Amino acid sequence: MFTGIFYVAAFLCLLWSSGFVYLRHERNTLERMHLANQTTTLNMVWQAVVKSHKTGMQVYFDTYIMQPQVLELLRAAQGGSESDQAVQRVRLYRYLYPIYQKLRERDVRQLHFHTPDARSFLRFHSPNHFGDSLATIRPSVVMANRDHRYIQGFETGRWLSGFRNVFPILYSDEDLGSVEISQPFESLRREIWHLDKSNDFMLVYKASLLLPKLFEEQKKIYGSSLFSQDWLVEDPRWELPDSPPKMSGPAQKVYAGLSESQSFIQALSQKQPQSVAVKVQDEFYRVTIIPLEDVEGLTAAVLLSFSAAPEIDEMYWNYRTDLLIFSVMVLFGGITFLLFLQSKQVVVEKQRNIQLIANTMNDGLYVMNDKGVITFVNATASEILGYSCHELLGQEAHALFHFHDNGRCSLSECPIFNVLLSNASYAGEEVFRRKDGSSFVAEVASEPMFKKEKVVSAVTIFRDITERKKMEEQLTHLCNVDPLTNAFNRRYFLQVLETEIQKSKRYRTPFVLAMGDVDHFKRVNDAFGHEAGDRVLKEIVASIHERIRSADVFARWGGEEFVLLLANTSLSVAVPLVENIIANIRLLDFGEIGVVTISFGVTDHHKEDTIDTLLNRADKLLYEAKEAGRNCIRASE
Ligand code: GH3
Ligand code: MG
Ligand code: MG
Repeated sequence: MFTGIFYVAAFLCLLWSSGFVYLRHERNTLERMHLANQTTTLNMVWQAVVKSHKTGMQVYFDTYIMQPQVLELLRAAQGGSESDQAVQRVRLYRYLYPIYQKLRERDVRQLHFHTPDARSFLRFHSPNHFGDSLATIRPSVVMANRDHRYIQGFETGRWLSGFRNVFPILYSDEDLGSVEISQPFESLRREIWHLDKSNDFMLVYKASLLLPKLFEEQKKIYGSSLFSQDWLVEDPRWELPDSPPKMSGPAQKVYAGLSESQSFIQALSQKQPQSVAVKVQDEFYRVTIIPLEDVEGLTAAVLLSFSAAPEIDEMYWNYRTDLLIFSVMVLFGGITFLLFLQSKQVVVEKQRNIQLIANTMNDGLYVMNDKGVITFVNATASEILGYSCHELLGQEAHALFHFHDNGRCSLSECPIFNVLLSNASYAGEEVFRRKDGSSFVAEVASEPMFKKEKVVSAVTIFRDITERKKMEEQLTHLCNVDPLTNAFNRRYFLQVLETEIQKSKRYRTPFVLAMGDVDHFKRVNDAFGHEAGDRVLKEIVASIHERIRSADVFARWGGEEFVLLLANTSLSVAVPLVENIIANIRLLDFGEIGVVTISFGVTDHHKEDTIDTLLNRADKLLYEAKEAGRNCIRASE
């Protein structure tokens, strides 16, 4: 039982673990798919915003910069002395200032002209600050001047970190340097926010790329992000006027908890956009990370988006519900199975006890089903029949060991099987056959067994009564036979005579009664002793036995008197037979005793005869024979 429980428990643990792993895997897959969808959608939106931003900047460039007045001014500044350049710078500033003002209204913060050798020529946001080399801090400017192509990409800088648009300025194949027209991140953030208002956005900068480029006083604007010192946040306390609006309360909480999210920290180091789920105060949020590469392909910043993710909450709720239902099912299944095992164990124990009880019985016992097939057998039955229990089980009892005197009989005729058909018990004697072919008389008792008031099987107990039968026969023999002469005794003879009278009355069969008496037997005793007399009596009986048929009954009536019933015999046949008996006795050799004779009175049965009338008539005839001189027969009808 304990082993059974152990295996069931082990199986249930395995089943539960498999279910747990499966449900968890399902939940994780759904979560991954959901986050992947979010990443794809947001990245698409972001790319669309970047693209529209790029187009906008291109339009500004084509419309406002590439006009003859601007190009002439720039050309005039080329190669001139510093004072000439200063004049052209002022002219350019004055000419483009109204346009700059208009562009500012459209969020353009950077309108910055560079010389072909990547020096600052004119910063509209800081017109007095020029001439500094941008070769080391502004790769986009270097690339645009060198390759004469439009460069767009995220770039950190002293004045602005964000999407830079640097356009090379070529006028009739003359290199006039380049110009940058850029909007701050906030401008892009607003656009993406308009497209997806469920998100809060945040830009974080790679400290190692940004810090070396900043003027000392600008460094104060930046602060470490809450999740890592490697990443910086511009205006962390939202103090500057053109800073993005404060993030929503939940987004700020998520941002504050990011340092504890391993999946976020891991995703941060990836080059591809990713989304992670972050749990804050029992609610899930999505954090999407879109890496922003600078023109040199380095991840200079990361766009973070925060949004509530009730779908993930639902996934986790469904997962927990499914797991609970599954656990309850496993537990319920386990308990049911254990109860089943327990009940099975009880049945097994009961069966074992029944078998034990049955095996202690001295009688053979077997149970057969409604087909007569043995379903249960005890050890004694196996011992008596000579078959092993294994050989008996599953066999048809009737065919295997039941032997009928009248030859083979069908199962339906078998009195033991009939118990099942008649629904009544049976007791009787039957002949059973052992495995070795020998047979024995069995005392049998069968009882029907019920299931829901329907007979479904029968139990039979049996015992070998061969020995008892023999003893009974011996006893019967002793009761019926005279011990001295071995002839039947008077009691038995009277029974036979009564039966024969009845038979004769019913079937009109004739029979003859002869009564004999040894002549002068007293003399034998007197002369030769009682033992000699006994010997004479024995030999006379033996002689008569030799001459009668097995159907005839010869008995000692008492002393030296005998009676003989000749069944189915008429008087005419009986008389010569008795005469022959008399003759043979006379011929017996008794040594010194000499010749011994016997006299008989013989009569046949009359239809009105009773035992007494018949016996009296025979006795009378015997008396007549004695009177006639003995050693003779007197017969009458
Ligand atoms: P009868 O010819 O008239 O019949 O003469 P009987 O001597 O045979 O008759 P009786 O009735 O006078 O004697 C019978 C004798 O048989 C008497 C008795 O001692 C003897 N007897 C009876 N039973 C036995 C017995 O079992 N063994 C012996 N040895 N003698 C017996
Ligand atoms: Mg006598
Ligand atoms: Mg006599």
